[in-house]
Amino acid sequence: MDLFEEALAKAGENCRELSFEDIKALLGAGESERPRLYALADRVRSRLLGEEVYLRGIIEFSNYCSGACFYCGLRSGNKGVRRYRMEPSEILEAAGEAAGMGLKTIVLQSGEDPFYTVEILTGVIWEIKKLDVAVTLSLGLRSPEDLRAFKEAGADRYLLKHETADADLFARLRPGTTLEDRVGSLRLLKRLGYQVGSGGMVGLPGQTVPAVARDLLLMRDLDVEMAGLGPFIPHPGTPLGGSPAGSLEMTLTILAVARLVLPDAHLPATTALGTINPRGRGLALRCGANVIMPNVTPQRYRSHYSIYPGKTGIDRDPFTSVREMRLLIESLGRSEGTGYGHSPKYAYTELHSGRESGVRSQKPE
Ligand code: SF4
Repeated sequence: MDLFEEALAKAGENCRELSFEDIKALLGAGESERPRLYALADRVRSRLLGEEVYLRGIIEFSNYCSGACFYCGLRSGNKGVRRYRMEPSEILEAAGEAAGMGLKTIVLQSGEDPFYTVEILTGVIWEIKKLDVAVTLSLGLRSPEDLRAFKEAGADRYLLKHETADADLFARLRPGTTLEDRVGSLRLLKRLGYQVGSGGMVGLPGQTVPAVARDLLLMRDLDVEMAGLGPFIPHPGTPLGGSPAGSLEMTLTILAVARLVLPDAHLPATTALGTINPRGRGLALRCGANVIMPNVTPQRYRSHYSIYPGKTGIDRDPFTSVREMRLLIESLGRSEGTGYGHSPKYAYTELHSGRESGVRSQKPE
């Protein structure tokens, strides 16, 4: 048996035991081998997480960012972006609309924008929790005190992509920050009781197969509840503007291997994948993904949240975005998740600690 066949057989028996060498062999799947890899990932997803696809409504409330990441259109040095900040009342209105459409998770996403103080954000989280939804934050790095306050105000989850487990590549692409600090923040989020999401980009210039294997092992070591893996898409206003984009095939392969390495983690079918290929999200849901994040940002702001160019859905309103994702789920014969869509391990803990999982926040002072 060759290395791929051996690793696939091992994954079929106990995917939690996959080694660095096994993961590299699976990531190297050739064209003729990929269908069996995708099918196994789909079976693991079905067995552990069922047929439900969870919708997480994402509100991109500020595109100001103090960061300078080489791959991101929101970097502070990109003067071609029209910057905006949503008022707390606008954020609450968008969240109310999303909850009214039946979404059970609201994701609050922004660049690293200190304008939104801990007082502003805890107030927003507190109000959103009254809608009986889970709240996910994706705000970049914040102080330990802020993270603790957000949690106490009721935030359930935090997304902080590690981007790449290759420390040298990380330092080149995210000047002024280190992988060590990023991983330290992820471990802190776990200690604070958040369900944690991490992830990275597929096809970053300088990325290697062993580096991707280390990405997946890092996320297994961190015991993440979510892993976001989408293709790198070059933005012309960034230093990487002339680099090639990550491919559909490589993204699906990494997603399928991620399902085997992180069998009970939530894996989104990313908007970036839907941007490089109109069928991308549907294909992702067939090889391990079980989450979609429809954009519920008011239409007037959408085109300005340009992490990468050509983002799909920027011409839609929130209702259309959600309806399209529901139609996609239906077309695949799957069903929409009806609960909060917490991590299965978290839901188990909640169940056995006798706490309700939706509303458990502490009003900020
Ligand atoms: S990746 Fe995040 S921190 Fe970096 S420039 Fe973009 S929004 Fe800012």
